[in-house]
Amino acid sequence: MAESDGLNGRRISGAPPGVFFMCVQCRDSRLQFPYRRYSTPGSIAINSQIILPFMTQKQACVRFYEELNDFLPASRRKKQFCHSFDGSPAIKDVIEALGVPHTEVDLILANGVSVDFSYQLQADDRIAVYPVFEALDISSLVHLREKPLRRTRFILDVHLGKTARILRMLGFDSLYRNDYDDHEIADLAETEQRIVLTRDRGLLKFKRITRGYWLRATKPRQQVAEVLSRFDLYSQIAPFHRCLNCNGLIQPVTVDRVAERLLPRTKRYYQEFFQCSSCDRVYWKGSHFTTMQQTILDLVNHNKGPLD
Ligand SMILES: [Zn+2]
Repeated sequence: MAESDGLNGRRISGAPPGVFFMCVQCRDSRLQFPYRRYSTPGSIAINSQIILPFMTQKQACVRFYEELNDFLPASRRKKQFCHSFDGSPAIKDVIEALGVPHTEVDLILANGVSVDFSYQLQADDRIAVYPVFEALDISSLVHLREKPLRRTRFILDVHLGKTARILRMLGFDSLYRNDYDDHEIADLAETEQRIVLTRDRGLLKFKRITRGYWLRATKPRQQVAEVLSRFDLYSQIAPFHRCLNCNGLIQPVTVDRVAERLLPRTKRYYQEFFQCSSCDRVYWKGSHFTTMQQTILDLVNHNKGPLD
């Protein structure tokens, strides 16, 4: 896809004076020095390159809403801008070419009408692109998902081990291994309907990944706070029923069944024990339990103060 406004605000050396172009819909003045390399008879030669006037390309006015702006350069955030294109590209390809992963998008309006990813961009379209709404009712419009994920399940990329452990501590089904490759993550996301959590925007461009979220925060606890808020998961928090080690479910177990794996002191001071049904790891409410309880409280109340 050709981009014609890559020289925003900069005059092309040798450009004919007084040549201005402006989007007829949004009056985007950044397009005043349009250019396009082209080898067509009758075009204008500048610095030995062949330039065609911008207006020979189709244009559409595009605006991204809310956190989708995080993916855009500052000059395009929270405002309408003009996008130039050839042919009739699918809106999904246009959105990704502009830097926004399709997994972040839940609603697209073309000229006020909701459309799906296969919609082909037309000249003079007005496009509005909205992020995934988890908490708002927009059921009268076309969501881009066939149906919402009923149970919120995650798969995290290989850099997010600590984040996965915290999500498991809160009870969320969170797959993580430090040796997953991108294709394995895409497979598991597709077959098990998992939301991909990542700091890698490239991973979210996989076609098979229909639900994904690019984490803005870089620290694990802040990332979990972000996920809780973004997907409105507070009511689904169920602490201490999932193994931090392997994501398996943990069950109460009698001390007799795990006694041989406990230190004498642990047997003496604690009466309640739990065991992972997958990896057999044993848990009890030791000093780490109090720390984890405080972490959970901090996460639930994170809007009242910053997390470290
Ligand atoms: Zn386990």
